[in-house]
Amino acid sequence: MCRHLAWLGESRSIAALVLEPSHGLLRQSYQPRRQQRGLLNADGWGVGFLVPGQAEPVRWRSARPLWSDASFASVAPVLASGAVLAAVRSATEGMPMDESAAAPFTDGRTLLSHNGRVDRSVLPLRHGAESVCDSAVLAAHVLAAGTATAESVGRTVLDVARLDPTATLNLLLHHGDRVTAVSWGDPLSYLVEPDGVVVASEPWDNDPRWVDVPDHHLLEVTSDGVAVTTLETR
Ligand code: GLN
Repeated sequence: MCRHLAWLGESRSIAALVLEPSHGLLRQSYQPRRQQRGLLNADGWGVGFLVPGQAEPVRWRSARPLWSDASFASVAPVLASGAVLAAVRSATEGMPMDESAAAPFTDGRTLLSHNGRVDRSVLPLRHGAESVCDSAVLAAHVLAAGTATAESVGRTVLDVARLDPTATLNLLLHHGDRVTAVSWGDPLSYLVEPDGVVVASEPWDNDPRWVDVPDHHLLEVTSDGVAVTTLETR
């Protein structure tokens, strides 16, 4: 399964968030610690972030392994943002291998990454899907169903899980000023730092302050802090 992370806080460089942590996404692309399926995340990567003066996020995605991208490594130290969503990909069998299948997906405003797999045939066809990849079809469905509140995302996940009970549905959504995350079948952790909050598939270092989110939970990060609630009873 893929690995992903979201940052909400003061501006940090993309290199500081993605490449430099001792066990960050770069390391997780070839040596994840908590990955339950697949050994590598070598099938592409993507990063989306807000830049000053622009309402919609920008994205940089690739079908290449993150560790092989020297151009990104050279530019990432001078890119910075306080609202970032990034992912490295391990493609599900049968899914396309081009960069349009790499997260984050977007509807123009919200960034979304899916860590998992889902039977595409249970999902409605959406014109907004960026790829026929299951995660892109799921992203289009979640974004079209409404993401105005964390609860609405939680309801959509419960609906999809009912349609495909074998689906694994970890999601990260970045709205610029808040982050919504779902743990559904794969690990999820978060860390509150003095200058912001990071939510990630697995801790990017050995800091004991990382908190593991239990499975089947909904997490919301706002300027007020982090709220974690169960999805089971919704
Ligand atoms: N199913 C998605 C894909 O094929 C995500 C896979 C994953 O989480 N490893 O890209």
